[in-house]
Amino acid sequence: MKKLLCVLLTATVLLLPVEAVDEPKYIALTFDDGPSGYLTADLLDGLAERGVHATFFICGYRVDQFPEITARIAAEGHEIGVHGDTHTMFSQMSPIEVCDDLSEAMRKIEEASGVTPTLLRPPGGIYDLEVLKKTVCADLPVILWSVDVEDWHRSNSDEICADIVKQVQNGDVILLHDMKESSVNAALKVIDRLQSDGYVFVTVSELARLSGTELAGNTAYYAFRFAKNASISDLEAETEPCAKLPLPPPRPCRSVLRQRTKSRRSPSERPTA
Ligand code: ZN
Repeated sequence: MKKLLCVLLTATVLLLPVEAVDEPKYIALTFDDGPSGYLTADLLDGLAERGVHATFFICGYRVDQFPEITARIAAEGHEIGVHGDTHTMFSQMSPIEVCDDLSEAMRKIEEASGVTPTLLRPPGGIYDLEVLKKTVCADLPVILWSVDVEDWHRSNSDEICADIVKQVQNGDVILLHDMKESSVNAALKVIDRLQSDGYVFVTVSELARLSGTELAGNTAYYAFRFAKNASISDLEAETEPCAKLPLPPPRPCRSVLRQRTKSRRSPSERPTA
């Protein structure tokens, strides 16, 4: 009898569920080209319900159309980056035009939301070295992405979601657009699916910090790789790829950017006229 009891106890212990010890994995959702009206509002509702903060790369001309939504994005704790004023490709503009375009977009975002964007993403996904050199006046980290399933021309949110889930890794920056209902629905499905898989959604700046990366101006970032099973306290993880661009020093530009440049100079360096 004792022997039987011992066997039963042993079997019971062996059958006890083993508690999962997986460390959290971190990723950032980014939304380009907005804000939109009800679509961005729906997205913000869905993010709030799920306790998720995202990063929005906003265009100045969209702020003109939806200043309240821009303010709401900031008020609800999401991160704001600048995505140009008119969404004209920087490859088609001179350095001065790019500078002025960014300056105008930043002024509009600041006026609408009270927040100064600290990240930049060039319009249209064109980001060769020549384009990036033109953004030097903004002196902002250039945030690209590591997962792009081209949601902007697709309409099936289940397929968009499945493609993202298939590709995603710890430390990824996911590109989406808050311009189509299918993109918004896909984003919320991705959150529901990946949260249950142990992913934690953070803003781009938080993702950088968690990976031990200090974001620097005039530097392009695609993703923030963590060591395997990185935890929130594991700040020594490797980061890749991170292209340090051989860019010229920033030069003054008009309005906001001029003020930003000026404020960083010592009094003796400031121009007299
Ligand atoms: Zn865009």
